[in-house]
Amino acid sequence: MTLEQRAPARVSAEANRNAEDTILELKGLKTYFFLERGIVKAVDGVDVSVGRRKTLGVVGESGCGKSVTFRSVMRLIQSPPGRIVEGEILLHRKDGDTVDITQLDPRSRQLRDIRGAEIAMIFQEPMTSLNPLHPVGRQISESVLLHQSLSRQAAQERAEEMLNRVHIADPGRRIGEYPHQLSGGMRQRVMIALALSCNPSILIADEPTTALDVTVQAQILDLMRELQDDFDSAIVLITHNLGVVSQMADHVAVMYLGRVVEYAPVYEIFHNPKHPYTIGLLNSVPVLGRKDENRLVPITGMVPSPMEEIQGCAFADRCPEAMEICWEQSPDFKEHEPGHSAACWLHD
Ligand code: SF4
Repeated sequence: MTLEQRAPARVSAEANRNAEDTILELKGLKTYFFLERGIVKAVDGVDVSVGRRKTLGVVGESGCGKSVTFRSVMRLIQSPPGRIVEGEILLHRKDGDTVDITQLDPRSRQLRDIRGAEIAMIFQEPMTSLNPLHPVGRQISESVLLHQSLSRQAAQERAEEMLNRVHIADPGRRIGEYPHQLSGGMRQRVMIALALSCNPSILIADEPTTALDVTVQAQILDLMRELQDDFDSAIVLITHNLGVVSQMADHVAVMYLGRVVEYAPVYEIFHNPKHPYTIGLLNSVPVLGRKDENRLVPITGMVPSPMEEIQGCAFADRCPEAMEICWEQSPDFKEHEPGHSAACWLHD
């Protein structure tokens, strides 16, 4: 029986116990792509959680599985060839109810209600979410009507209010404009307005500022922080930019080859990193104020193919600390200090 065929089911009382401080919990999540040339294990056993009203930064090199992990949460994986093959995605609601998103039919009303109304996603390219053929105000009001029982007039007013909330000047005029009439930064604001129009509990932002210039980038990050306070949302911020993470995140998950290899509060990641891959990432970007800021050390070698069968630690052939055991056995991802987990033999 496939995951899609299983009936939506509420999860156990044990899962509900985690719900107080945690809004989203991924347990052993695996998403594979079944191609003619082999199986791509894009997400291969991810364990991570997102705190209520907190920001989780998700970092790692391209192809490490960051985006696929959170597209799996939204059930946006194209099937075939992709499929969630194992694991749980637990959404802990405010009312104490917990739902395992992996068990919902992708075409079900229940999943449609979760997307947008409870979890919303924004992307690097706003045109992924915006329809070029409709005025932006109409796109926001249609989304509001889909999830809330409001009159057309009230939905229109909500759209204007949202454009105002994301600091778009003259929202009454802009509401009738098409995406191509707006600048890149404005389109990004509209996408955020669209995502937050139904007041979701979780906003997943996939490289939201990468395509913008530095000044607009800072404005969008400020806006996200401001709206997080106003709307009480949790944010998952997927990025390769450690500077953005240091400004925005409460916790950080470092991903490598489809797995989380380190998870800790943001201060710990920057000041007491445990995994050699995290240390490599930190050493390969300039950090303002660091004494040896001129000595950037790139991580040697390449990320292995996610189709490769790897024995031992997946980072071993790039790791300056690799030991004999690293080539033989894969380290478990476990807590080494309170709230600080890593998958590395150095700490066992
Ligand atoms: Fe390096 Fe070994 Fe730790 Fe892997 S387990 S990161 S190879 S020290």
